Amino acid sequence: MWDFSTEPGFQALLDWTRDFVRDRVEPLDLVHPGEAFHPPTGDLRLLVDAMKQEVRDRGLWACHLGPELGGQGYGQLKLALMNEILGTSGWAPIIFGTQAPDTGNAEIIAQYGTDEQKARYLQPLLDGECFSCYSMTEPHAGSDPKMFTTRATRDGDQWVIQGRKFFSSNARTASFFIVMAVTDPDVSAYQGMSMFLVPAETPGIVIERNIGLMGEDEDEGMHALIHYDDVRVPLDNLLGGEGQAFAIAQTRLGGGRVHHAMRAVATCQKALDLLCERVLSRETQGEVLARKQFIQGDIADSYAELQQFRLLVLYTAWEIDQHKDYHRSRKNIAAIKVLTPKVIHDAVLRSMHAHGALGVSNEMPFGGMWMMAPVMGIVDGPTEVHRITVAREVLKGYKPAPGAWPTAHLPGQRAAARENLAAQLEHVIGNA
Ligand SMILES: Cc1cc2nc3c(=O)[nH]c(=O)nc-3n(C[C@H](O)[C@H](O)[C@H](O)COP(=O)(O)OP(=O)(O)OC[C@H]3O[C@@H](n4cnc5c(N)ncnc54)[C@H](O)[C@@H]3O)c2cc1C
Repeated sequence: MWDFSTEPGFQALLDWTRDFVRDRVEPLDLVHPGEAFHPPTGDLRLLVDAMKQEVRDRGLWACHLGPELGGQGYGQLKLALMNEILGTSGWAPIIFGTQAPDTGNAEIIAQYGTDEQKARYLQPLLDGECFSCYSMTEPHAGSDPKMFTTRATRDGDQWVIQGRKFFSSNARTASFFIVMAVTDPDVSAYQGMSMFLVPAETPGIVIERNIGLMGEDEDEGMHALIHYDDVRVPLDNLLGGEGQAFAIAQTRLGGGRVHHAMRAVATCQKALDLLCERVLSRETQGEVLARKQFIQGDIADSYAELQQFRLLVLYTAWEIDQHKDYHRSRKNIAAIKVLTPKVIHDAVLRSMHAHGALGVSNEMPFGGMWMMAPVMGIVDGPTEVHRITVAREVLKGYKPAPGAWPTAHLPGQRAAARENLAAQLEHVIGNA
């Protein structure tokens, strides 16, 4: 069955979410920018807790999770519709309990953690009581995890972690880290790496710098360069089995990539909304910008590209719901990962450009939106790697031509068609 409608009950929740984010959450973005991943204190804490409770009361808390983990079990498609709203605000994912990287971290602890690990690390995360950090990329290697060198070795009843990690988001405010390390250098990296749960207070975790994105102040950023210097954790802190790090990482990154794309739909819709409002408001050479054909072309392109992108995101979310397995949707997950930076880039640039000098100023929100384009091309693996995945998956549905010529080679096709028609004619005459 093909159906592009949203059931009325869930649409009512989406309508409530849209109003709530606009009226109650976006003020936090304006008055407390950049604080979403810092544990709130004082009055801010009271405010944030009250908002989270309202979200819970509506049954909208942690929509990425199933009911067994305190979520709603809505599935990815409904989560996509939610994220199309939450993605306009830095604070909204925190208020709704769906912020990266905690979503992915919760997912892997839920899937691979022991009961004790779930009680200690997962539950506070699901309750929105703490932040977590995923520490995989290294200073010398990111998109090729086979090059990672951070080591974890056994010493009696402890694992000892030694190495450096780069761009570990939210390390400065996280309560625990999930660290990927080599446990067996003598086998392939696919079997020789493991994941560890490391409490933030463990001695030996040295944050060398908190790196920011372009334009952010030095050492005020959220992406840490970390030295794990003789960091010791009990043997029980291994997450999943020894050598399972690659499998765990893929579980985590699959969902993360889709969720980023869902929020990118929100960014592109906002860029289009701002573009349309501006060109209807601003006049030049005797008419509003909206009457200029170049501008109309930009509106049409932004609209059409957004719709294409959104449909692929929604389709991929639906596909994941059908299979309950990210791996089976890897072609489309990789495809939307490839499209995400481009669609943001083009939509935001057109809108920013139509605002003239105001568009490139710090009095409009384009700076943060614009930055999402290059970031989305890198985070969770660079575009090239995902283009390779798309191509590899697409090629699985094809095989080489059986002979020297392509199967669509016209001379061969015509000869076969003539034979086919002659055989049909013989059959018709025979029956006449
Ligand atoms: C905002 C942000 C948050 C992040 N958060 C985290 C986090 O919480 N935890 C964490 O562990 N990491 C995090 N990362 C790191 C991220 O996962 C890596 O940056 C990413 O995997 C790429 O690795 P790299 O930066 O080392 O780039 P490299 O691997 O050095 O790649 C650089 C460039 O080389 C090219 N390239 C790479 N591979 C290929 C290929 N196969 N074919 C052709 N060209 C190729 C691409 O142009 C690529 O952009 C974050 C990154 C960003 C930007």
